[in-house]
Amino acid sequence: MICDRCENPAVYTRKYSGQKLCSECFSNSIVRKTAKTISKYNMIQHNELVAVAVSGGKDSLALLKIIHEMATTHNFRIKVITIDEGIPGYRNEALEIVKKFCGELNVEYKIYSYKDLFELTLDDALELRENEKTSSCSICGTLRRRAIDFAAKDIGADVIATGHNLDDTLQTFVINMLSGDTNKIGWMDPDTSTNTLRKIKPFSEIYESEIVFYAFTNNIPFQSEPCPHMNEGIRTEIREFLNSLESQHSGIKNNLYRSISKVSQIMKNSNYKQKTTCKKCGNECTGNVCSVCNMILKLKENQT
Ligand code: SF4
Ligand SMILES: [Zn+2]
Ligand SMILES: [Zn+2]
Repeated sequence: MICDRCENPAVYTRKYSGQKLCSECFSNSIVRKTAKTISKYNMIQHNELVAVAVSGGKDSLALLKIIHEMATTHNFRIKVITIDEGIPGYRNEALEIVKKFCGELNVEYKIYSYKDLFELTLDDALELRENEKTSSCSICGTLRRRAIDFAAKDIGADVIATGHNLDDTLQTFVINMLSGDTNKIGWMDPDTSTNTLRKIKPFSEIYESEIVFYAFTNNIPFQSEPCPHMNEGIRTEIREFLNSLESQHSGIKNNLYRSISKVSQIMKNSNYKQKTTCKKCGNECTGNVCSVCNMILKLKENQT
């Protein structure tokens, strides 16, 4: 089997398009797709400082590699921020990988811990929650959003880049639909605001499986140990459901992504007037106090 773009042996078949690629052409296709997504949504402007949020997983390390290469030929700078949730036995491996990888690329990086920012680790927060209905990942994700915002402001960044891929977007959409939270759907649209810290997802149009293959073919060392809380929420079930649909109907994830983009654009426009700023932190939200501040307040109440 020969690559569709050169004479080398093909190692990857893109099932939804039928394209066969060698490892070099495959990697180039991922880099090109990332660059295309960045320019399509004007994600990065000249002279901006991009805070790349790197967890030590395959997505964020692959993003760091690609965006680091781009920064050398385009007019923007990058720094890495890493969040330490305080999950015993899990985060340490990732922190080591991030440190080593940033050293190889000669990129500045800084670690911010939940403990320093909120005076509690994720494990402390889980102890303090009222009941187990609030999943570990929803608490962790809420705290992480705030931690990343803080870290990006702290290093003076203009943009926050995360490694969220197409599968993450689909899963989040389904979770929001299943929880009845239609407001959040409007917030899924690519962030094109110019006045605040922009949050960008350069991998948002790339399948998770292709990021895995990219990380594998580029020898990117990523964390092997899964988070102990990974399978507690509904996300894993939705991931498996969407993967089984894709295996029977190649390209169905791309179709769903396109539908979500259209729906979220409509929701964003129709919800536009409802947006206010949080009385506590000044971030955009839909009520008086944002969900992050609300959660932190509740946890602190239970602490005393
Ligand atoms: S799997 Fe859940 S608990 Fe673990 S790091 Fe990710 S969001 Fe946090
Ligand atoms: Zn090739
Ligand atoms: Zn707030």
